[in-house]
Amino acid sequence: MPYGETIVMLATVAVTLATHNLAVYKARVARSGSSGHDLPVITEHEARRTAEAVLQDMSSRQPGMPPLAIMHVEEHQACWVFGYQSVRYIETGSFLDSLVGNGPILVDRQTGQPHTTGTALPSDYYVAEYVSGQHTCDFCTTAQP
Ligand SMILES: [Zn+2]
Repeated sequence: MPYGETIVMLATVAVTLATHNLAVYKARVARSGSSGHDLPVITEHEARRTAEAVLQDMSSRQPGMPPLAIMHVEEHQACWVFGYQSVRYIETGSFLDSLVGNGPILVDRQTGQPHTTGTALPSDYYVAEYVSGQHTCDFCTTAQP
């Protein structure tokens, strides 16, 4: 009975797929938790790689800009904040090697989009500005048509 065998086989495949989909769904729920929709999706590691790419771009594009490296990271609810300095300053610790005008880089925790900030004010100000939707920088203005 070839038809009967085919039907049994198809039914087995269907049950296997349904079981698999349920397992995938359960794993997803377990990972995200009950209020998973508002959990951050960008890890510090991912955000750091983004910020490092921005720094590399800055030092290669701006004339006279030395190689740059991340000095510290701050965790905020909406974004990661990366402060940076010249690699030379990190090595020597001399203010003669320090950068002036190096506003921290923000990386959005939901989208992973990097943002540059100003330099005059503490990073909390720029984070507050970002959260309230009043922030603009080269990255957002070029991203929007
Ligand atoms: Zn921006």
